[in-house]
Amino acid sequence: QLSERLQQVANYVPAGARLADIGSDHAYLPANLLLNQHIDFAVAGEVAKGPYQNVLDEIERHNLTGKLVARLANGLAAVQLTDAIDVVTIAGMGGHLITQILEQNPNAKQQQPQLILQPNTDTGLVRHWLVEHGYRLVAEKMIFDEGHYYEILVAVPGAMQLTALEAAFGPYNLVEQPENWQTYWQRELARLKSITVKLAQAGRQNIAAYQDYQAQINEIEEALSL
Ligand code: SAM
Repeated sequence: QLSERLQQVANYVPAGARLADIGSDHAYLPANLLLNQHIDFAVAGEVAKGPYQNVLDEIERHNLTGKLVARLANGLAAVQLTDAIDVVTIAGMGGHLITQILEQNPNAKQQQPQLILQPNTDTGLVRHWLVEHGYRLVAEKMIFDEGHYYEILVAVPGAMQLTALEAAFGPYNLVEQPENWQTYWQRELARLKSITVKLAQAGRQNIAAYQDYQAQINEIEEALSL
């Protein structure tokens, strides 16, 4: 049984995909997809020895030898061309780290897999990376699991242009205004407003931070069409 967060990531993996899950830790995601016979081959990449051992344990526990391959490697160096990987998942890390991993892809010239990314932070940065590296978004989703909001981005090779607002909030989100996404940004708006109220009460409207908060508030209001 996957967490709601990983289940939502799993839902975007096409049936029959040859998957590389980078930063796999326990390899719950690829193991689940293999055990459900949704896919029949996956690489689980890990840079750290402890999590790599977790992957090995998971392979043994579920008898997945030959179907799930564990590799101790930095990022996409875990993928070999002969794996013929067509889908990459990177979940549960900061957006900055995700873009670093994508940036250092040794196979970038030969293979352009579909990407299913779940950044915990800096989703806007990830959208920018996609635009600049020949990817276009085909889906995005804000999910709520165990008290936290998480975003998922799905991208395929192709051209895309995004305005600053679209990069920050998501082109599909802005049009569709999904409920979780609205709730997340309403909360963020309330948080920023309470900060500016406190700064104003302290007579500090002239400091740069106040202007920054105000600019963010305006941007969120624009995104939410308020
Ligand atoms: N993907 C799983 C999930 O979403 O539940 C595990 C997320 S865990 C918080 C992040 C994992 O990424 C850690 O096990 C860490 O060792 C691994 N990691 C961090 N940087 C990495 C890199 N450059 N290459 C491969 N794995 C990395």
